[in-house]
Amino acid sequence: MFGKLRKGMNTFLKKITIKELSEKDLEPIIKELTDLMIQNEVGITAAEQIGKNLKRELTSLEHARFKDAMPVVKKALRASILSVLLDHDVPEIDILEKINEAKTENRPYIICMLGINGTGKTTTMAKLAKLFQKNKFSVVFAAGDTYRSGSIQQLGKHADNLGIRMIAHDYGGDPAAVAIDAIDHAESKGVDVVMIDTAGRMQNNVNLVRELEKVIRLSDTDLKIFIEDSLAGNDVIRQATQFNQDVGIDGIVMTKIDSDAKGGAIISVAQAIKKPVLFLGNGQSYNHLMKFDPDYIVKQVIPK
Ligand code: GDP
Repeated sequence: MFGKLRKGMNTFLKKITIKELSEKDLEPIIKELTDLMIQNEVGITAAEQIGKNLKRELTSLEHARFKDAMPVVKKALRASILSVLLDHDVPEIDILEKINEAKTENRPYIICMLGINGTGKTTTMAKLAKLFQKNKFSVVFAAGDTYRSGSIQQLGKHADNLGIRMIAHDYGGDPAAVAIDAIDHAESKGVDVVMIDTAGRMQNNVNLVRELEKVIRLSDTDLKIFIEDSLAGNDVIRQATQFNQDVGIDGIVMTKIDSDAKGGAIISVAQAIKKPVLFLGNGQSYNHLMKFDPDYIVKQVIPK
């Protein structure tokens, strides 16, 4: 993750000299940094924000005291990136806490998985289910992708691997009806979490949007998780914005960060749509799911 961005940052930091910490000389440096981030798929707004933050941090310093500019700039850059990752307008969501709250209210917690085909939606659903199981919560799957051939079998495999009951109808059936059956099952058996898979044909398909709205409305979904393939790069923000406009999303999971050399979208997507990145998928096995941690991200981009 961040291989190219980290390398670029390293080269950038090495070039900075003490002279350049004066306000006048900072302009071209900030421009170079912003360009570097945009080339590595950090969204433009976030990249410019990081540049502005860095300028503010550096011009507020008594830099005459520093012999070596690099550690000073490094620290300021870390703080600048962190402040974008910790955008105050992005709500925090603790899923395990939310499930617990629903449990105390004697009702299942309903999660709807949204995303385009191939992003890792089904795999992430299984990874999250495993996390819930580790935390002693029981799970039922609703096979709500009744459109793509093979999708029910694919989810069924994960369900078998994890010892989870899957509620499914035939292909072509109404996904909302599948979701309701799964919720009925959860209510009658005291299952803690219902996870609804959904079809992910095309993000701008009108029928899909209507279908998703119906699933969400009838299931009274608590949490809509949007699965994003980090390899989609600059398209990540566009896709998330579109889904958010169409059906509303509550949080994001970015997948395949293990094979993403640029990774800039991970830094900017939450700020762009004001929804939190909840987890990162960093591999194909069920344990390859990391809680999103801004400090960790900053350390990956700018190592000590
Ligand atoms: P869906 O069509 O959105 O349900 O996508 P799948 O869950 O079937 O995943 C598509 C492919 O991406 C599969 O080969 C997964 O193993 C792979 N995949 C999912 N998440 C990750 C991840 O975090 N890292 C890597 N390397 N591969 C992943």
